[in-house]
Amino acid sequence: MVQRILEAGDIESLDHNAIPRLLLPQAASAFAARAARLRQLAGGAVGGTPVDATLGGYLLLMAALVDAQAAVSVALPRDAVTLPPLADMQQALAHRMPLIPVGGERDPVWRRIFSSLLDRLDSLAAAPPQLSAVLGELRGLDAAALDACADAVLAQDGAAVNALHAPFVAAALQVLWTVQAGMLHQLDVPVLETGTLCPVCGSHPVASAIRIGGQSQGYRYLQCGICTSEWHMVRVKCSTCESNSQIAYRSLDAIDAAALAQTAKPRSKANDPKKVARAETCEDCHSYRKIFNQEHDYYIEPLADDLASLTLDLLVSAAGYDRASGNPLLWFSAQA
Ligand SMILES: [Zn+2]
Ligand SMILES: [Zn+2]
Repeated sequence: MVQRILEAGDIESLDHNAIPRLLLPQAASAFAARAARLRQLAGGAVGGTPVDATLGGYLLLMAALVDAQAAVSVALPRDAVTLPPLADMQQALAHRMPLIPVGGERDPVWRRIFSSLLDRLDSLAAAPPQLSAVLGELRGLDAAALDACADAVLAQDGAAVNALHAPFVAAALQVLWTVQAGMLHQLDVPVLETGTLCPVCGSHPVASAIRIGGQSQGYRYLQCGICTSEWHMVRVKCSTCESNSQIAYRSLDAIDAAALAQTAKPRSKANDPKKVARAETCEDCHSYRKIFNQEHDYYIEPLADDLASLTLDLLVSAAGYDRASGNPLLWFSAQA
């Protein structure tokens, strides 16, 4: 059992009826749900998120990688992953800083996780065709190259990574941080000064989701791209600059609104495929981040849905908005 950072008295003084401001991940189930969703999206089974054959192939490759993340997080020995020293976390809490910062010293166990991921992928009976070549390259990277890639991934420095290698390195880092995040207690995690960075690890959100069920019903959460924690942010607020003055939503509706008008079918309030994936744009900072709505599709998974909705990125960037932060499983760079 992990030692608590807060004393019992501090915990009692917190309001237990408040909405959960933080949803901490359980690595195995989080990765399993993500892999399942990637396969669903790859097969074109999700209305409102069109996926062509090329993207579908990439989503299946990433589904195999996420399967490996799930398997490796289960197989990790209990004592392989530890949290930072209690005194360090207490100090971070006192200063309202992330408890397991991505910018801090990296536990070298991440390299062991990385090679376990490659082993799992090597042993696949029906491996996606692109996989074997890239696995060979990844095995050839020395410790210095791996660490440089990890630094660039965590800093979201797309120009400094090989776009083919980065998703695999990011996957290993996600396993480490997601397992660590799952070892924390929700009430121990500080509320940061900024709502735009993960309170657990300080990384950027990959996308956001409107959740249903229990005390989170109807609330919006940002999902961390590295540790998979989700933290609450009110709706209709920019997740980059926190302005709420000029927020708008764009979806692929615009593209086929005409076709839709011709059929003129009455739509039910829930389960409308056109309302699953939208981009939240901000006129103050001209950025956007996607928001997925579980009221309209129960199985949304922010990182997976973000990866599959590249068409929406094209639409929104053509309208002049910059993507707020990258997806750890997709990199574009000149180095590839
Ligand atoms: Zn995080
Ligand atoms: Zn903004």
